[in-house]
Amino acid sequence: MHMTPEPSFRASVDLMFKRATQFMNLSPGLEEKIRVCNSTYTVRFGVRLRGKIETFTGYRSVHSEHMEPVKGGIRFATNVNQDEVEALAALMTYKCALVGTPFGGSKGGLSIDPRAWEEHELEQITRRFAYELIKRDLIHPAQNVPAPDMGTGEREMAWIADQYQRMNTTDINHRACVTGKPLNSGGIRGRVEATGRGVQYALHEFFRHPADLARAGLQGGLEGKRVIVQGLGNVGYHAAKFLSEEDGAKVIAVIERDGAVIDERGLDIQALKEWVTQNGGVKGYPGTSYVEAGAEVLEHACDILIPAALEGVIHKGNAARIRAPLIIEAANGPVTYGADEILRAKGTIVIPDLYANAGGVTVSYFEWVKNLSHMRFGRMQRRAEEAHSRMLVEELERLSADRGLGWELRPDFKERFLTGSDELALVRSGLDDTMRTTYQAMRAIWHGRPEVGDLRTAAYVFAIDRVARTYRSKGL
Ligand code: NAD
Repeated sequence: MHMTPEPSFRASVDLMFKRATQFMNLSPGLEEKIRVCNSTYTVRFGVRLRGKIETFTGYRSVHSEHMEPVKGGIRFATNVNQDEVEALAALMTYKCALVGTPFGGSKGGLSIDPRAWEEHELEQITRRFAYELIKRDLIHPAQNVPAPDMGTGEREMAWIADQYQRMNTTDINHRACVTGKPLNSGGIRGRVEATGRGVQYALHEFFRHPADLARAGLQGGLEGKRVIVQGLGNVGYHAAKFLSEEDGAKVIAVIERDGAVIDERGLDIQALKEWVTQNGGVKGYPGTSYVEAGAEVLEHACDILIPAALEGVIHKGNAARIRAPLIIEAANGPVTYGADEILRAKGTIVIPDLYANAGGVTVSYFEWVKNLSHMRFGRMQRRAEEAHSRMLVEELERLSADRGLGWELRPDFKERFLTGSDELALVRSGLDDTMRTTYQAMRAIWHGRPEVGDLRTAAYVFAIDRVARTYRSKGL
């Protein structure tokens, strides 16, 4: 079959943007202003490694500064390029607007295979890249705040934070220059799991609306639902773990770089993750069938498909064969524009990336606020909250004793009720609230304006409207 080539990732995001703006009343000038990427900085730098100078290419793209700081992860991968970084930066603008985090959109990338270098070498490379960005205020607590993305995690963020501090020794807010840091460098509890946790909360909210479930031809709860996950990295691992261990969903297949493993009875995600860490891939994991052409498993029958690795994996070439009635985009841009049209026509429900993976930036926002406030969440309130609860419990027990009622509170209730909220509980509460209210805002447009047609377009309409309002209130 001959097919027209697909647009690039960035063009794909622009087409999704345009599909939304046709339902909006923006002046053409404002529409253009919101759509375009403000700037992309490209840097090539050398690092002396293994006796010779290696040159690396990195990017930091700022899509929209309607709010500052701008925010967005830094990706380490060999195929990082300007088009991809700009697409991801645009998605960040819409994502932040959608979930109500007060940031503009940005993204960074370094073209590198992180697995090809030793830890101390990676540290040198990361610090040098960070130096180039810090020098130009492209890492800065008030202007541009990176976070982890593919190929980076807490370790890299700690190096970046330290590099910033070395170069800005008197900046009292230095810790707020980057998020996704380890706890001992000013991180926040619950950030590592946040994106996967957000995917879980998004599904919880979707499943609270039987009418929405029905559109996907599904019913009931998450218990027993068959799930396929692509990518067992930070996002995919946590999503798969929480859905299987806490919600009783069955993860029947995991697709990784080296292929896919399938077990219709449901995989033990923790054990599989340990296998991947030890063996470098899923191949050979006991008790499963292995498929070398992993991407084909995206087409297997399941209830929920979770692409959590990279962009463009569901494209015009395979979209028609995708059998999952519900796709939740844990990765950024896993469904191309062309594939999105095909899926929409056949009634597949897609919970879009700018919503589905917004848990990361939401908790990054909490971390940034924590850094600026210089205090852990819950530090002031927790014991006061516990004292209040204790008063109530003691009063109930006194009443029961005085009146001879013989009431007894269950010990586990008492324990839970008497425990004040610590930082992790507060972070999860804030994340859950964000995922719930945002879904409700999207669905109000999805159901209320039939011409909009799908959740992705609804998300864009909501997000673009917010950005437009910010611009208008600035007098642009
Ligand atoms: P990660 O590097 O931790 O994990 C990516 C995983 O995908 C790895 O296990 C890798 O082996 C696997 N993978 C790579 N190529 C693959 C292929 N061709 N087929 C199958 N698996 C493959 O990255 P991550 O942070 O989990 O990010 C994954 C996606 O989620 C990206 O699109 C990223 O932009 C998005 N995202 C991440 C965050 C975050 O907080 N980390 C937040 C929002 C969105």
